[in-house]
Amino acid sequence: MQRALLAALLVGLAAPLVGVFLVQRRLALIGDGLGHVALAGVAAGLLTGTAPVWTALVAAVGAAVLIEVVRAGGRSSGDVVLAVLFYGGIAGGVVLISLSPEGSAANLTAYLFGSITTTSASDVTVFAVLTAVVLAAAVILTPRLFAVTTDEEFARAAGLRPFTVNVILAVLVATTVVVSMRTVGLLLISALMVVPNAAAQQIHRSFRAALLTAVGIGLVTSTGGVVVSFYADTPSGGTIVLLGIAVFVAATAARAVRDAVATRRHRSAERHSEHEHGPDCGHEALPHDDHVDYLHDGHRHAPHGDHYDEHTYGQEQQTGGRP
Ligand SMILES: [Zn+2]
Ligand SMILES: [Zn+2]
Ligand SMILES: [Zn+2]
Ligand SMILES: [Zn+2]
Repeated sequence: MQRALLAALLVGLAAPLVGVFLVQRRLALIGDGLGHVALAGVAAGLLTGTAPVWTALVAAVGAAVLIEVVRAGGRSSGDVVLAVLFYGGIAGGVVLISLSPEGSAANLTAYLFGSITTTSASDVTVFAVLTAVVLAAAVILTPRLFAVTTDEEFARAAGLRPFTVNVILAVLVATTVVVSMRTVGLLLISALMVVPNAAAQQIHRSFRAALLTAVGIGLVTSTGGVVVSFYADTPSGGTIVLLGIAVFVAATAARAVRDAVATRRHRSAERHSEHEHGPDCGHEALPHDDHVDYLHDGHRHAPHGDHYDEHTYGQEQQTGGRP
């Protein structure tokens, strides 16, 4: 249980951090595909008696680099190549595992969906080292990753090489997939990369705040999921992902409530049938945030569509529908 918690902590930290760039690039499913390929690596490890963590790492990193090379080629058949790679990975993995001496349905399920009882002490050591590498790379590269993922043309113009950055990102994803294979499992790791980020983006708009929240959600759900799966005797990966989805639903609901409250608070001021405020209208203009308020007859209000919104102190942003 202690080892499992440690492994969960490592995945919970790394997955959302790497996942945020996948979400931004709309490549969320790459993690899923690399998980499929990693299974073939695990199987090769079991068959040859090599540590499956290392063979999985080789397979996943190799596939990650191959994917970026194919994508950089920009051929329209790129997604077919990926599909063949991914299905080949899982098909090869299933067949090889069935051939290996340790191969069993239970063993396969443990790799696919996580199983906290399988985490060995040497696994935790390897995972800790790999996570440290992923974290260091992610922190150092965040400005570059952010530039390339938000605006590739701009990044290119600024002298960054998107291909190199993409390959590094893909390798980070592949490494995170391997770190996850005991706790979350190869088929569900993509969810831990995506769901905490999706939930955090419901709460925060700024990249930094959303990322920190996503990592927090990842840590809470991965460790919480391990604890629950320990007592409920369920696969840890499925439990972790269900917890994460519960947080996402709660965040979405909270946001809906917040928006509804903001809309109700957003009261329109009197109509100005005969007077339009403007730069030269004679009323004092008070620019702030994203709009300009005008002082008029003791009101402080701002134009909004066909009416004026009353400005109330303490609800500066007036997010309820301001264009
Ligand atoms: Zn005026
Ligand atoms: Zn007015
Ligand atoms: Zn309004
Ligand atoms: Zn205002």
